[in-house]
Amino acid sequence: MASSCRSSSSSSGGIEKIPSTSIRVLRSVESVRRWRKPHLIDRRTVGLVPTMGALHEGHISLIRAAARENHHVVVSVYVNPAQFGIAEDLASYPVTWEADTAALARLDRELADDGDNLGRISAVFAPSTADMYPAGFPGQEINSKGSFVTITPVGDVLEGASRPTFFRGVATVCMKLFNIVQPEKVYFGQKDVQQTVVIRTMVRDFMLPTEVVVGPTMRAPDGLALSSRNVYLGERRRAVATVLNRALKAAEAAFVSGARDRETVLGAATQLASDVLNEQMALAPGKRVKFEIDYISLSDPNTMEELSLIDPARGGILSGAIRMRPVEAPQEGEDLGHSGGPAVRLIDNIILEPVAA
Ligand code: AMP
Repeated sequence: MASSCRSSSSSSGGIEKIPSTSIRVLRSVESVRRWRKPHLIDRRTVGLVPTMGALHEGHISLIRAAARENHHVVVSVYVNPAQFGIAEDLASYPVTWEADTAALARLDRELADDGDNLGRISAVFAPSTADMYPAGFPGQEINSKGSFVTITPVGDVLEGASRPTFFRGVATVCMKLFNIVQPEKVYFGQKDVQQTVVIRTMVRDFMLPTEVVVGPTMRAPDGLALSSRNVYLGERRRAVATVLNRALKAAEAAFVSGARDRETVLGAATQLASDVLNEQMALAPGKRVKFEIDYISLSDPNTMEELSLIDPARGGILSGAIRMRPVEAPQEGEDLGHSGGPAVRLIDNIILEPVAA
């Protein structure tokens, strides 16, 4: 769990802080409530950026946006077991507390120097699972009993179809985080597009007094969406992992050049993916990379229901998931990635913006 690493925080007057900063490290629900209360009275706004740590430029961009628009930014760092399926990578998920707090300290100095910001990073909330699940952790199984938030049907399709407990875990932990921090605004990345639709739906349907802000997907120069899971890839698979983004871009190009029907738009994506796979399969086992497309979807921007035809006035969402197989015949000294390079599932999406008639 992310909360188990305490070494890079200093304690002064009983308040734990990231060294050389004014960023508090809050570890209990009670400590967040104590910190939050005076700001409800002095009308200082709070922006919350929920993360699972292993921070990269995608997370940092959301924190920058939150600092522009709020007096205080709270970053939560919590690897939420409820959103991992029993066969998924909870045990090996990267936990990089030292690097994360160093990145937050650097960013906070930068925010202090930049006059355009309303606020800075006030606190990191790094709770334990015992704190987040006061009745005891209910378990990762599909039929686990406990207090869960389920957002359907949007949480059942696409990512939800491949990962049946994922959005239940996400919605449940976000409901808890929103209730603990009571943020005026919450910040989520476009990279996890279905998650943004689930969270917006939850906020609307449960009348939560917060505004959902979505920041753009941050990418490596070759187009790969930044993800904490990219560390699993290693060099060989990293080079091929751009295939999903290239496939989605091919579908986008079809839309831009006038195609509106599902077969033409998604056909461009699946053609590109199958060309890349054929190229790889023609290589020797010690050189090639095997992958499977889990899905490539064209869906409605509000409900994520599959579209057979794009209404240009509404646009759509192209999204996909790919499973990169572990490399075959590893070469001597080859960089296989974090945890020996297990199978990695990556997601990405492109928004097809509405076009004027
Ligand atoms: P995670 O730590 O993976 O749970 O992500 C925390 C937040 O960062 C979520 O709102 C993600 O959508 C967002 N995020 C992750 N990767 C990116 C990215 N490449 N660009 C923008 N936001 C991202």
